[in-house]
Amino acid sequence: MSLLLAQAAVNDANIHFDKLYSYRIPAELAGRVFPGSMVLVPFGRGSKARMAVVLAVGEVDESDAPKGLKTLYDAAPEDARLTPDLLELVRFLKERTFCTWFEAVKAVIPYGAQYRPAVVDGRHVMQGRLTRSTERLYTLAGALPEKPKPGPRQLAAVAALQNGPLTARQLDEVGISRATLDGLVKKGVLTAAEQDKAIDLFAAIPFDPQPLELSPEQQQVFNDLLPNLEDARPHAALLHGVTGSGKTIVFLRLIQRTLELGRRALVLVPEISLTPQMIRRLKSTFGSRLAVQHSALNNTERLLQWRMIQQGNADIVVGTRSAVFAPLQNLGLIIMDEEQEHTYQSESAPRFDAHDVAKKRAVMENALLLFASATPLTETYHAAESGKLQLVQLTHRYGGRPLPSVDFIDMRAELAAGNPREVSVRLARELQENLDNGEQSILLLNRRGYRTIGMCTTCGHVLKCPNCSVPLVYHKPQQALLCHHCGHTVHPLPQTCPECGGKISYSGFGTQRVEEELAELLPGARILRMDQDSTFRKDAHETMLAQFARHEYDILLGTQMVAKGLDFEKVTLVGVLGIDSLLFGQGFRAYESVFSLITQVVGRGGRAALPGRALIQTSVPDHPVLQLAAAQDYKGFYREEITFRRFSLYPPFCSFVVVGFIGDQEGAVFIAAQRFGALLGQHAAQKPNIPLRILGPAPMNITMLNNKFRYKLTLKCRNDAAFRALLHETLDAYDAEKLPQKASVILDFNSDGDL
Ligand code: ADP
Ligand code: ZN
Repeated sequence: MSLLLAQAAVNDANIHFDKLYSYRIPAELAGRVFPGSMVLVPFGRGSKARMAVVLAVGEVDESDAPKGLKTLYDAAPEDARLTPDLLELVRFLKERTFCTWFEAVKAVIPYGAQYRPAVVDGRHVMQGRLTRSTERLYTLAGALPEKPKPGPRQLAAVAALQNGPLTARQLDEVGISRATLDGLVKKGVLTAAEQDKAIDLFAAIPFDPQPLELSPEQQQVFNDLLPNLEDARPHAALLHGVTGSGKTIVFLRLIQRTLELGRRALVLVPEISLTPQMIRRLKSTFGSRLAVQHSALNNTERLLQWRMIQQGNADIVVGTRSAVFAPLQNLGLIIMDEEQEHTYQSESAPRFDAHDVAKKRAVMENALLLFASATPLTETYHAAESGKLQLVQLTHRYGGRPLPSVDFIDMRAELAAGNPREVSVRLARELQENLDNGEQSILLLNRRGYRTIGMCTTCGHVLKCPNCSVPLVYHKPQQALLCHHCGHTVHPLPQTCPECGGKISYSGFGTQRVEEELAELLPGARILRMDQDSTFRKDAHETMLAQFARHEYDILLGTQMVAKGLDFEKVTLVGVLGIDSLLFGQGFRAYESVFSLITQVVGRGGRAALPGRALIQTSVPDHPVLQLAAAQDYKGFYREEITFRRFSLYPPFCSFVVVGFIGDQEGAVFIAAQRFGALLGQHAAQKPNIPLRILGPAPMNITMLNNKFRYKLTLKCRNDAAFRALLHETLDAYDAEKLPQKASVILDFNSDGDL
């Protein structure tokens, strides 16, 4: 007798025990269990029900079956299984990021499409996370009988459905209840059917295609890319275009061509705040076969959009990082706009970089992958320079507009002259000028809150989070101190030192403080503050940006979410505040990030008829990175940066991996990290040709987070299959010494120095 076995990866594993487990497939589930199937399995000593994903199915002879073989509890319907493409992406994530199988599964499908364990009539079964993603649709099917005399509500229902079917919700909105409708269904006057909920989230955006006429420079870029779009082979290219050069219109033409070729397009943007603008352009140009995937959608919306994609009803998908997994078939073009943004790297498991996944997909689908930026990552530009990516460039702003002029304001001089404010005299004056001229301004300050530090004036004690080794931030609306990492709140605001009773003084400034100063300095100015605190509401980004576009505000003040991609014609002044702390930040990408941030935000000004100018407040106006950013000299910056990377051995000249160790006892965490380093060194020494440098252990920048201690090893290496095998061996050896009990391990292949 032979029996059917499934090899499954279970949920809630960690890297130390993420193996495949064998289960017997019972006869009644045999037709439903395939590689990619979601199943419910008995796990561990108590045979607790856990979700799992099947990776292989096979037959074995009864006599060869493993001892103590357990039987699957349940399996999801066949149509819920991961397609071979998604399963391949799961394998890719597992192999490249050292996540668990199930973490990879959760990354590639939305929450709403997942299942959870339940018990029904004493049996273990699995249930969909979302059950109410369908709605009832009523259709007129016959005439209303004259007897008994129809009531007014019945007449109203029939009248409402005269012009075609409506959903229960639409009918409810005009006062027709479910009871009335179902009564009419019984009489045969109406029919009812369940359908997927309406999924056109952008019905309000009119289809209004404008001719896409390219400038000669844009046309050249398009022509250069076209052969690689048309030949249905995998290609990757970098579009390096200065801010305002019209990268978007080149995207639109490429998408248009992709659709003509009968293929589909995926557009990735780095932030939710940029999706409305992109959706508007795409929807008005191409109409309705457009879907979005980002985290501001609720679970139902996200699921419905995802199903729409999966069922082949979307030709274009727009979204943030996770949209890179959108199950588009026949993908011909992947665009990754503002490719330098760190938001393309996931900071929780699976710690993937969307660049890598996009490359993988381009290969799987024979698609053209286009990275685009005014300030590409040093690695990306290097790859383009050395011929690994096709390089196309837009060197001028559209319409011959000049790039904004940039000036520095020396904040040391400002302080010496006795200005106690964070907004300099000159910036305030120019903001006022803009106000008088009816022009708009954007101010960037990449710190939220009111005051960023509270310190005792007597003993110097800094008010820190009890769970995390970071200062607490004063938030004015709540009159409270907040931890930006764990959310810990202290209310009311402490006025005296918990150590010595001395007076607490609050200093450092965030967006709330600057908003207040602006209100004092510029009476009558309409100021819009945009940061994580002011945009937590759904649709807040879209609403606020639309208000600013309609000139309902004069000044847009915000964190990095105002720096990128936005295109407003009346913005002629850009101010940059509080940039110095980023310049002196840790991590080998600090300069690159500052250069990019300044170039991006400066590029928001002077994009239409009116010329733009930018003012950068700093205490180090002569800093070479600021000087290069002011000159908007990307190539100059790149040359400096690539020399530094080569000389100090950083990517692209090596791979950079951070191994994090996290546990309850600081000493034990340190020892575990040290032991991991030693094991890694020993195993590496037994192999030929594994280039490797191990640095540390050292405490992470935030040594304590959520009451856990954190140390790291930094590896400079060549991230290939041999190296990854070495890491696996080391993890096994670390396991064998029972060290995961002391400190769990996190591997990050995208870090710039810390986790
Ligand atoms: P980038 O993304 O390169 O910063 P955009 O794509 O936002 O630049 O273009 C900058 C501005 O120039 C936009 O307002 C855009 O509408 C306009 N523009 C660029 N190219 C064209 C074109 N070929 N025809 C009309 N307007 C264009
Ligand atoms: Zn905290």
